[in-house]
Amino acid sequence: LGLTITVGEILVEIMATTVGAGFLSPQSFVGPFPSGAPAIFIDQVARFGGAAGIVAAVGADDFGTINVERLRADGVDVSAIATIQGRPTGSAFVRYRPDGARDFVFNITHSAAGEARMTEAARALVAKSGHVHVMGSAFAIPGIAAALVEAVATVKARGGSVSFDPNIRKELAQADEGRKLVDDVLAVTDLLLPSGDELLVAADAATEEAAVERLLDLGIGEIALKRGSAGSSHFSRQFGRVDCPAFSVEEVDPTGAGDCFGAAYLTSRRAGLAPARALLYANAAGARTVTRQGPMEGVSSREELDEFIAAAGREVG
Ligand code: ADP
Repeated sequence: LGLTITVGEILVEIMATTVGAGFLSPQSFVGPFPSGAPAIFIDQVARFGGAAGIVAAVGADDFGTINVERLRADGVDVSAIATIQGRPTGSAFVRYRPDGARDFVFNITHSAAGEARMTEAARALVAKSGHVHVMGSAFAIPGIAAALVEAVATVKARGGSVSFDPNIRKELAQADEGRKLVDDVLAVTDLLLPSGDELLVAADAATEEAAVERLLDLGIGEIALKRGSAGSSHFSRQFGRVDCPAFSVEEVDPTGAGDCFGAAYLTSRRAGLAPARALLYANAAGARTVTRQGPMEGVSSREELDEFIAAAGREVG
């Protein structure tokens, strides 16, 4: 079963056009851009050539329409995106500080996005899927977390697989309830996609080596570790450690890099490519994303990635 699905928030992102501190004075913005980490991820799966679908909810407004139409145009199955009357589509206002840090004003939990549930249409989609991608951020939204847990159980029970991007705050993982959710997902994870210190947090370990050992011992098949502008590494019992240097690009907007990386990696592996090749596609997808303003604007087709890789002189056999 080739269909990959995810459950999570869809929103628009509206970005300040100037660098500053906070939102305390009137300023210019650009947007709305289609966004939401799960939406970016699933859009990249489809653009890479994978069968893809998402369980989510939007409002009956233009912010919902630009998201749904973009996902549909890129080949994502949108049949399980519910339209919630009386709630606006989720949104995020973003601005950058001089040091690159970002300020956000989110409207997610109380927007239509927070109303995503296992509807009949969602169950029909899950019934056709062979892989579920879990975003750690979903645990912060109770309805989405419950729907994800059901999707994971259903797909696992029929022999499908699970990928997990533990993009959760350390504080949440250390709270008992957050830790339990993380551990429950880790116990059924086939592919883990951590970035930065998420590897150590997920494993509750002090070093990268210890974390990798602990997680592979748990039964996680493979780990693809994102290292930002330093590239990425794969760890598994079958292939050992495989490193892949980053592509050299000018970073314009880092949003979405990890999601595009994960989607390209997963879809490459599900298409039967070896880890070294999958990492190359994933690094290329992440690198192309950071060169574009707007979270979903840097999503790439497999052909675009082939061209980008060839232009950088980075073919692998
Ligand atoms: P996340 O967004 O989850 O924190 P990263 O920032 O590590 O993930 O980005 C994911 C991948 O995208 C990296 O492993 C790398 O391959 C690529 N990438 C991210 N930032 C850059 C950059 N500035 N230059 C080149 N590649 C990058």
